[in-house]
Order: sequence, then structure tokens, then C-alpha cells
Amino acid sequence: MDTETFAARHIGPRADERDRMLALVGAADLDDLVAQSLPSTITGEAQLELPDPLSESEALTRLRSLAAENNPGRAMIGLGYHGTITPAVIRRNVLEDPAWYTAYTPYQPEISQGRLEALLNFQTMIADLTALPIAGASLLDEATAVAEAMTLARRTTKTGNVLLLDADTLPQTVAVVRTRAEALNLDVRVADGDLLDAIASHQPFAVVVQTPGASGRLAATQELQAIADAAHAKGAAVIAACDLLALTLVTPPGEWGADIAVGSSQRFGVPLFYGGPHAGFIAVRAKLERSLPGRLVGVSKDADGVQAYRLALQTREQHIRREKATSNICTAQVLLAVAASMYAVYHGPQGLVRIANAVHGAASALAEDLTAAGVEVVHEQFFDTVLARVPGRAAEVVQAARAAGVHLRLVDADQVGISIGQDATVEDLAAVRAAFGVAGDPAWRGPSRLGESSRTSAYLTHPVFSTHHSETAMLRYLRALSDRDFALDRGMIPLGSCTMKLNATTEMEPISYPGFADLHPFVPGADAAGYAILIAELEGWLAELTGYAKVSIQPNAGSQGELAGLLAVRGYHRSRGDEQRTVCLIPSSAHGTNAASAVMAGMKVVVVKATDDGSVDLDDLRAKIATHRDQLAAIMVTYPSTHGVFEEGITELCGLVHDAGGQVYVDGANLNALLGLARPGRFGADVSHLNLHKTFCIPHGGGGPGVGPIGVGAHLVPYLPGHPLAEVEGRGNGPVSAAPYGSAGILAISWAYIAMMGADGLRSATQHALLAANYVAARLTEHYPVLYTGRNGRVAHECILDLRPLTKASGITVDDVAKRLIDYGFHAPTMSFPVAGTLMVEPTESENLAELDRFCDAMIAIRGEIAAVETGDWPGADNPLVNAPHTQARVTAEEWHHPYSRRLAAFPSGLHAGPIGATGADKYWPPVARIDGAFGDRNLICTCPPPEAFEA
Ligand SMILES: *Cc1c(COP(=O)(O)O)cnc(C)c1O
Repeated sequence: MDTETFAARHIGPRADERDRMLALVGAADLDDLVAQSLPSTITGEAQLELPDPLSESEALTRLRSLAAENNPGRAMIGLGYHGTITPAVIRRNVLEDPAWYTAYTPYQPEISQGRLEALLNFQTMIADLTALPIAGASLLDEATAVAEAMTLARRTTKTGNVLLLDADTLPQTVAVVRTRAEALNLDVRVADGDLLDAIASHQPFAVVVQTPGASGRLAATQELQAIADAAHAKGAAVIAACDLLALTLVTPPGEWGADIAVGSSQRFGVPLFYGGPHAGFIAVRAKLERSLPGRLVGVSKDADGVQAYRLALQTREQHIRREKATSNICTAQVLLAVAASMYAVYHGPQGLVRIANAVHGAASALAEDLTAAGVEVVHEQFFDTVLARVPGRAAEVVQAARAAGVHLRLVDADQVGISIGQDATVEDLAAVRAAFGVAGDPAWRGPSRLGESSRTSAYLTHPVFSTHHSETAMLRYLRALSDRDFALDRGMIPLGSCTMKLNATTEMEPISYPGFADLHPFVPGADAAGYAILIAELEGWLAELTGYAKVSIQPNAGSQGELAGLLAVRGYHRSRGDEQRTVCLIPSSAHGTNAASAVMAGMKVVVVKATDDGSVDLDDLRAKIATHRDQLAAIMVTYPSTHGVFEEGITELCGLVHDAGGQVYVDGANLNALLGLARPGRFGADVSHLNLHKTFCIPHGGGGPGVGPIGVGAHLVPYLPGHPLAEVEGRGNGPVSAAPYGSAGILAISWAYIAMMGADGLRSATQHALLAANYVAARLTEHYPVLYTGRNGRVAHECILDLRPLTKASGITVDDVAKRLIDYGFHAPTMSFPVAGTLMVEPTESENLAELDRFCDAMIAIRGEIAAVETGDWPGADNPLVNAPHTQARVTAEEWHHPYSRRLAAFPSGLHAGPIGATGADKYWPPVARIDGAFGDRNLICTCPPPEAFEA
């Protein structure tokens, strides 16, 4: 019997704390605060229809029974998803460890050195295995990685608009690439036979080669070289979609002439998760690094000359370049990239080769036996996948294997694909043989079928890949790295727009359940009955909560939801003959992904100004609508705005855009301020994305995974993303993710959150989020002016603190304050978004009063430190702010020449007393001092440097 509701655990402040907070902000109760804050035009709706809340144990019981309704069997379907064994030390100490999964994206590098090192290992692993020098830190999946490679190639080659795809490309990749290409007016051609012939008869800007192919076929190195040569002769770039495990044995793309290599790192120990989340990868040849999409970790040095990691070349990214960005990717797949990199760290190059040989050996033994029994094996050369021809009998064979617990791929009526993964057992292999009617004991290893493609070059030679092979060593390496980072398990992460709230343990546990974690995305529908229920319930609840007709959970990040939503708008306009509607209005304060996504959807961005009080300037909006009336496709607005206020004009704004024939896209990233109080689908919006990794408790993972579902009005339902391998009725647009249900493996988290909170709990959470933000604003505004407020001087769920006057008077910048907060034991708020020179604070409902006060006290103390610089007590060039953060090395140095004490440097809130995190033994020590960003960009190193390279 649970005697406490889950909502009472999720929400930080106890009743007495809540009352003290209400008193300070001047509201009678939570309802009064809401009435003071939100425009009455958007509230006051009927009660939400959600089931009564479940207790934590009831939710787990229900989820266990849903997991049991799936039939994972042994997945031998292949197509980019492979059985693997997640080392338990990685599962428990990365995927299930809050020190890793509750971290934020490493924008504050001084407190992110652990995950940055893990990501650098990932980049080194990808660069080594592909033999291309520069690899990024994680794309969303293989299919979108190919699409990103397509646009990269398009930016860097100037030869026509045809993208040529190998006939043996994964079907979901073809579909995702088509979706993306269509909006950009690029012409996708799939070669209908020999790729060399196709190159000869086209003028492509890029050629995609899948190797090994979807059918399992492994091309000889010479054949691949000939393809690359032919493509290059025509000025086209060569994109290799490849398999990391195969690359331990076969010639890597960088050695046969590919310019770009992409793929998925799933089979490096990441569970199948019914299709995701998994980290995609991309590596490029030299000179393409500045066009690379997504994040890139680089090596720099700190203020003391110590080697330090940071995100490099950020000026390519959406948050800076907006509509000129190399990609719209924001939240990526960091946690999964970390897990995959650790698989390589744990096994090392020899271990990976053993795994690859075992997989290949089992596949070739199977091919031998099938051939001996008279079954035709189609390809002579393959790595892990055998394609068998059984004319007219394919369905029967697949069915027989399924009955014996193995999922094979039904290619067509005559052909069956069998892909061997690391998890295959001798019983599985016997079951496969039996399904083909082959008797006798299976052999474990047949002769090599790699043909003329063997790899000769070394890889993973950096010591990190040969140091941590015992479990003790591995455990300590993981612990050491996570200890270098500041995550939610240590203290508040008050990041505006990112909603770093509780990720409850009960929500997290089910992701590892058998049935959820080990299901292949392309099993027959009947074998995914549990997921079907979970997804239908979650989509239904999200539709109810947002007031939309339907929700699709396919997009695997907010950015991908934006693209899917805008493509729905595009499809709608085109269905009405309005091809010319391509203008997307975007307020100046919008998140960078909005503009980048609009460009990817083939739209032209027109910026709408903000007024002095931060709202969308309705006069400017009217003017822009008048200019572009016939071309108007949509407006993208965030609500409440990125300025942290509930704009009064939202209903009028929706009306103006609709009157001109445009659609209203409400960016739902700030739904944590609305849930249970107002519904975008009812106050005038046509489409929204939500960020389940913000409002709905999926942890941030250090920069991903995420889920970015879209909700749409009835008229847009036909344009929701579909999928070629899972027909969903009435969803006519192409897919935006490789897997039909995107990052299905983490949906149980959000399902559990909603199921356990219920309608009242969710409303209460929102009210507490508003209360916490208004509390912080009230406590801090006399020290740092709150830049924007709405009705009655209220903020929404976050507030912007204006440091610009202080910077002007003292020279102390937002950066200095952010870094000094580390000494006080905090993660910095969001810096300089959406207004340069400001800090945006979002406390969320999950922080209790002690932690909110600890943060406010720290900010007030820092204000006092700034005052000491202003008055000249401390020199502008030598004070605890500009020198922050202070490392142990610094404060224990033999010499100390600063005008403030070591004690003040490291323990600014004292040594004793105070809540957890503030003092003494709880002190978080940053592993490096302030990092030199410009140095890292000038001297780009983005794979593990030799250990001695940066000796200080
Ligand atoms: C986080 C965010 C996005 C992007 O979402 P991702 O999941 O990171 O891709 C878009 N808009 C706003 C306002 C956001 O805060």
C-alpha cells in the first residue's frame, strides 16, 4: 500500500513551504497565482479526461504486464538493428545511473568534463573505425544521419540536385531521405541495379553506398573504390552508410575513398529499444569539419594550461546560426553515444574483433549448412547477414522460426534474411536451421565470407581503449568520469527553456524491462502488442492534454517534431493548391531550432520583431502578414514565450495569421507552464511539438535522448509522419525518424509520469512551477532586474535576469556569474538566450524551498561580489568572479596572490551548516578552471590526443 501519492514525491515544496512561497510572491493560493498570471482567454476549460492516478507500484505492475505482451524472441531481422549484449557494468552504471542520465547538454564545459571525455572517446572510435579524421558527437539515428550527410554534401558540392542511392540502402533510410529531400527540392534516385551504371547516367551531387547492404551483400574493396572514383570524377561526394562491427574486419570507407561515413552505433551494446533511442554517427574527411551537422567535442586548455574538453565550432549550430545552421539538431543522443563508446572502451580492439569474428563465423557456418542442404544463399560475400532464396516458401520459413522464438526478415515471397547479432545462441542457430528444414547440429564457425575486403589498418590504439578491460577498472573509470560532472543528482540545474525537473526512479526502471528493451522495431505487429497499447495510451493522453486531434510520437527530438509539424503544414497547403505558401514567420526571440527547421521544411524565414516589453510586436506582425499574405505558410511562436511571459496577445495573433490563410505552430517546449491550465490546440494553434525530455520527465541524458511528439488539429492529421515498414492508417507524410515509433524505448517514462500524476497532479505541478519561478523572481529582482513580466508583474515558469547594467558598470559578464555559480555548487542558468547578456532561470516544480533559497542566496552573494568590483575593492582583472571556477589545484597552490582568500574562493557559502550541496563535504570541485574556447576552435583536435600532448 502506497500511503503517499506520487505527485507529492514529484513536487518539491511541502505544503508549509508552498505557503511561505505564496506569501512572499503575494498570492492567496495557487489558483489565485494562476488567475493573476494567465490570460483568461486561454484558461477556463473543461476538466481533463485522464485516468485516476496510479501509485508507483501500480504503475510498475501495469508496465511489467505491457512489457510481457511484447514478444522479442531473438531478433535476426537486421536492417540496421542488431542483437547485442549490453555489458551489465555499462547498463547499471551509465544507462541506469542518474549521474549520467540526469546531466544536461555540456554547454558549461567546466562541469561536464566526464561526459565530454566519453563523447571524445565516441568520436575517436568513429573516426578510427571509419578511417575518416573528424567525427561528430552523435546524430539521431542512421536514416537521419544519411539525410544530414545529404545536405552536408549539397552544401559542399555544386553538381546538380540529384542524390543517388544504392539499391541496397535500408528501406527506412530511403524513406527518411525522400521526406527530407522533397521539401528541399532535391531529386532522390534509387539505382535500379548496378550503382556504377547509375552514376554514369546521372549527374549526382552525392552518391550513397550502403555497405554491407540491406540484403547483407558485402562489396569488395575494389568495387567500392571504383564507385568512389566514378562519383568523384563527376564532382559528386561519396557517402558510406556502414556498420561499426563490420568495420573492425573490412576496409573502412576512408580507405576506399568515401568523403562521409554515417550509421548507427546501436550494436555497440545499446539495447534494441523497439527502434530507439540509439546514437547515429557521422565522420568526414578533412576540410568538411566546418560543415559538419550537430555537436563536435574538441580539445582545448583551461586558464592554467591544463587539457580540457569543450564543444567546438558552435558557430555552425542552430542556436547561433539559426536559418543558416548546418542542421536543426539540438537535443541529440548523448547517453547512448556514451554507452556505445564505453562498449568499445570495455572490449577494446581485440575484444571487438572477437565479437565480429563470432558473428561473422556464425553467419558463414549458417550459409555453409544452408547451401549443403540445397537452400540457395544469394550472396557469396557478407558480414553478418545471410540472404536465403526459398521460392514461394519465405513466409513459411519466417513463421516457423518465429514459432521457435527467432524473428527473421521476410524480404519477399521468395527470400529470407537472417542477421546474426552478438546475442545469438547455439539454440537460436539450431532453430533457424530447423525453420529451413536443415537437420543436424549447427557449426559455430564457417570459412570467411568477407572476400577481398579485409581491413589491414589498426584502430582504437589510444590507451583508453586498452586500459579498462577488467570490470573493476571499468567501474572506476565510469565513476571517475561521472564524478567530474554536475548533474541533477547533485543540485539544481536552473536552465531556462530546458525544464530540468525530477526524473523519477519509478519512471526510469521500466526502460530496462525485458520486452521493452530487447524488441526489434520491425517485428510483426502482433509481437509488439504491449508497445501498441503503451503508445496508443500515451498519444491519447498527450492529445487530451494539448487539445489536439492526434499526436504522433515518431519524432525523436523537439527539432524533429518541428520539422514534422512544418511538413504537415506544407502538405496541407499543397493539398489545397497553395504551393506558394512558403513563408514562415518567426519572432526574433525564437529558439534557433525554429528557423533551422523552417529552412529544412523548404520555407523562407521572415522575422517578426519584439516590442520593448518582449512580446511579439503585433503591429510588425500585421505589416509582415500584409507583405506576405499570399505566401504565408505559418507562424512559429513559443507559448509562454521564450521571454518567460504569458503574452496577452496570443489569441489575437492566432486570429491574424488564420485570417491570412496561415497556420499557427506553437512551439511546446514551454508546456511545463501550461499543462493542466490551458491547451494550445484549443486556444488557436494548429500544430505543436512537445519535448517529452522537458515537460514529461525523460531525463536529459547529458544532451539526449529526447522525444519530440507533434500534436495536430484534425485538418493536419493526414500529414502526420508515416513509415514504410509500419503502415499507420491515415498518416500520409513520409517518416522523419528511422524507426516507426522513434525513441520508443523511453516512452514508458512519460507514460508513467502521466499515469502516476493524473490530471490534478499535472495541474498542481504546473502551478508549483509557476510559483517557484515567481518566487525566484521576487527574491532576486531587487538584485538583478527581471527583464520581462506579464500581467500583474507575473512571470511564467521561468524568468530572465538582466545583467547588462551590471556588466556595464563592473565589467563582470554573464559568463563570470555562470562560472562563479560553480564555486557555489550550482549549474549555471541558460546564458544569453533569448537576450544576450542575461541569465534565464527555470526552477521547475521539483526543487524544494531549501534548494530554491540556496540558489537565491548564492545569486545575492554574487551580487555582493560584483558590488565589490564596482567599488574598486577588487580589481576588475583579479577577483573571484573572473577567476572562477576555482579548482583544487588553484586553492591549494603553494602561492596565493589574489586579493581575496582561498576560503572565499572555494567555499563562498561557508564550510559548515546549510543544506546539501552548499558546504564542506558536499562541495563539488570543478576538474578544470575556465576553458579557453577560442584556442580550441583555432587548434581543432576532436579525437583523443596522445596523453602527453597537453602536459601543463
Ligand atoms: C528545447 C527547445 C527546442 C528544441 O528541442 P530539442 O528537443 O532540443 O530538439 C525548441 N524550442 C524551444 C523553445 C526549446 O526550449
